[in-house]
Order: sequence, then structure tokens, then C-alpha cells
Amino acid sequence: MLKYLINLLFPKLCLGCNALLLNNEKIICSECNHNLPHTNHHFLEHNDTTKKFYGIIPIEFSASMLYFHHKGIVQNLIHNLKYKNHQEVGSLLGKWYAKDLENISQIQTVSEIIPVPLHKKRLEERGYNQVTTFCEALSKELEIPYNPNLLYRSRYSKTQTKKDKENRKDIANSLFDVNFTEADQNKHFLLVDDVMTSGATLESCAKALLKIPNSKVSVVTIAYTLS
Ligand SMILES: [Zn+2]
Repeated sequence: MLKYLINLLFPKLCLGCNALLLNNEKIICSECNHNLPHTNHHFLEHNDTTKKFYGIIPIEFSASMLYFHHKGIVQNLIHNLKYKNHQEVGSLLGKWYAKDLENISQIQTVSEIIPVPLHKKRLEERGYNQVTTFCEALSKELEIPYNPNLLYRSRYSKTQTKKDKENRKDIANSLFDVNFTEADQNKHFLLVDDVMTSGATLESCAKALLKIPNSKVSVVTIAYTLS
């Protein structure tokens, strides 16, 4: 009864389109779920994300889950995840994406899941890293440890706060570094970010991880911006 009243007073809305959610729907309505622009990158050896790294940095496997369109469902989902504390979006998408990834041979050799870190200052402002719940869901479903302490942001990047295009040169210039010991050697890291645009952030993170002897890096993101 109480639950019914709460629902009546504070109806749950779809985080993709703001439509009223039906009783059997959670977080995303059936229509948004049906219309989610899946990239199906994981079926393709050469996809939009792998092309960003060609000739720049060796990446074992890379894929984005969804296409990011302005004013689309994915933009709303990411906005809710990133700025409105709707971290359940990351949990749900991570759970779904794990099903796509679990049969990929390269993913089966991954030793740890590594989030693209936020700068301390940003983490304090926002209170959470928007990729944490996505990483945690992947970690749980794929049974791969999650390690948010290896990679850190060594310099604060203003370009990331605004909607400016990522400045590849600025970001790639050692914004990230690793805190590693001998125990972190010989591992295959799965680097995870929310949205891939130019790929510069991921490139910089991957470069830092590859400083660890005998390491390998794969990359997945929630969304990919078509440019
Ligand atoms: Zn919806």
C-alpha cells in the first residue's frame, strides 16, 4: 500500500525518455530498451573503436556498447548517470553488456577491470565516478576483479568539464599514471570509460597501463560518439 502511494506521489520515470514507467519496468521503459542503438562492435574485429587506436597503441580488443546520438536515449541515460546520480543506469547497462562480452575470447583472458579515473577534485564535487557501477556490474557478471586503484589522473583537465571537443594532444600528454608493484605485472587490463569521442583519454590511460611490464590492454565503453 505504502509502495503504491509512493509511486502515485513520485511516479518513476524512464531515464531514457522521461515516460512514466509501468509497474514491470525498471530504469528504462520497454520502448527505449527496444530502441537502444546497440553497436554490435563485439562481433567485429575492425570496428569504430578499434580504428581509433590503429597505429597509435596496441589494444587487444575494443568495443562500445551503444551509439551516442545528441538528444537521443543514450544521451539521456548518460546524462542521468553522470550528473543526476542515477548510478543504477550503469549497473543495468553493465549487466546487459556482460552478456555480450562473456563469449569473447580476449575478454576471457582479462585479469582486472580498470575504470578511467576522475580527478580527485571532480570526484569530490560529484561524489562518485560515473563508470563505477558499470565496472562493478561487469566485474560481478564476468567474475573479473575490479581495480580502481591502479590508474590515477596526474593532472586536472579543464577540457573535460566543458562540452568542448577533447583536445587529443592535451589529454594524451601524460594526464594519467599508474601506481604499480610487481604483483601488477603480466596482466591483461580491461579499461572502461563512459563515452568514447576522440579516444584520446583512453589512449592516454592505455599508455600509462602499458608502462607496467608485460601488460596488455583492452577497452570497452558504454557509448561511442559518431562524429
Ligand atoms: Zn523510455
